Amino acid sequence: SLPVVAIVGRPNVGKSTIFNRLAGERIAIVEDKPGITRDRIYSRSEWNGRDFHVIDTGGLEFDEQDEILEHIRNQAELAIEEADVILFVTDGRDGVTPADEEVARLLHRSNKPVIMAVNKIDDVKHKEDMYEFYRLGFEHVIPVSSIHGTGTGDMLDALVEHF
Ligand code: GDP
Ligand code: MG
Repeated sequence: SLPVVAIVGRPNVGKSTIFNRLAGERIAIVEDKPGITRDRIYSRSEWNGRDFHVIDTGGLEFDEQDEILEHIRNQAELAIEEADVILFVTDGRDGVTPADEEVARLLHRSNKPVIMAVNKIDDVKHKEDMYEFYRLGFEHVIPVSSIHGTGTGDMLDALVEHF
């Protein structure tokens, strides 16, 4: 079976934008099971001749802060179980948030490789915004702008290296 990349992170950091970029022209399949798996989206993707599956997580929205954190936790735990490599997405403009720290804590507990994409670095002027994310303790910290596509090649290189 193909390697699985799971995209994990708090809401609004750009997970789905990255997912759509990786999924390209391919039609994403919404898994329509009831309960906890219903908002995950799967697609097949390819980079440099390496085929893999990619899972988007966290498509639901909540009003209560506690529910958001609970949801992130559940999705991250599911993704950790299924993934061969985890793509941890954060927002370089917001900087490190408590929810990012919560996700990081969960990911460190797994023994899965983690690539961190610091998204929304749309301009080289903002590249220094990525450095504070090193304190979350992951080796691979890659600045990307998923709307412009900058950095996504480096991100994919790092992901496929861990298959
Ligand atoms: P998700 O909740 O993590 O899936 O985030 P989305 O992919 O839905 O994106 C949340 C918002 O951030 C949307 O308004 C996107 O257009 C925006 N966004 C995503 N990637 C980028 C980026 O690289 N730069 C900027 N400036 N905005 C982005
Ligand atoms: Mg999303």
